Amino acid sequence: MKLTFLGTGTSTGVPMIGCECATCRSHDRRDKRLRTSALLSAGNTNILIDAGPDFRQQMLDAGSPPLSALLLTHTHYDHAGGIDDLRPYCYPDGFDIYAQAADIDDLRMKVPYCFAEHPYPGAPVLNPHVIAPMKPFEINGLSIEPLPVKHYLLDIVGFKIGNLAYITDAKEVPAETIDAIKGVDTLVINALRHKEHISHLNLTQALDVIKAVRPRMAYLTHISHDMGLYSEVAPTLPDNVRPATDGETIEIQD
Ligand SMILES: [Zn+2]
Ligand SMILES: [Zn+2]
Repeated sequence: MKLTFLGTGTSTGVPMIGCECATCRSHDRRDKRLRTSALLSAGNTNILIDAGPDFRQQMLDAGSPPLSALLLTHTHYDHAGGIDDLRPYCYPDGFDIYAQAADIDDLRMKVPYCFAEHPYPGAPVLNPHVIAPMKPFEINGLSIEPLPVKHYLLDIVGFKIGNLAYITDAKEVPAETIDAIKGVDTLVINALRHKEHISHLNLTQALDVIKAVRPRMAYLTHISHDMGLYSEVAPTLPDNVRPATDGETIEIQD
């Protein structure tokens, strides 16, 4: 199983429009971060996790891979704003998306034409599948377990797929999720910046989650320009923790 980080930036992306800070002016490609999204590949199955506003660019950068389905962590714009661009993947049979019931309802309001009974010619056609925390489901024989995650007041989900746990936009990782993913090979976890934030883990809090889960490797995602330069932050992290970078592909060990 392989995971490609399509984007590792927070909602503004890095650089941020109009910002003159050292990170936003950096020429290091490891400091360029599109909005958070990832592609999981197992055999012929390619599963997209979130489809933010950079989705189209991310698919082109990844070589336009075929996609089996989309898993949504939640419907904030930086995670779902690219759904309209799924249209090349929607024909002839529609495209399968998996999200919590409230998130499917939210999408029916935001992009109603993707769920139309008689779609406008060429419009995206989405086949919604309702998922719930701790209720595993399968895509092409691959078992996926949605994990409860607190994003300030929102109940969103992360995913455990084989020996990978993928969590973004957590402010709090509940004990039942920690228990469900203890000792996984690879943990992906959001870490926004050094300072406290109301709805996202900061670096110290993300490192605490990593300590509790004890993965072989942990990768940080959903990173803000306030985290600082990759070249300065990476050396300060524990041996088994790295900031993820856009376009990087990692191997998940069984
Ligand atoms: Zn969010
Ligand atoms: Zn986000």
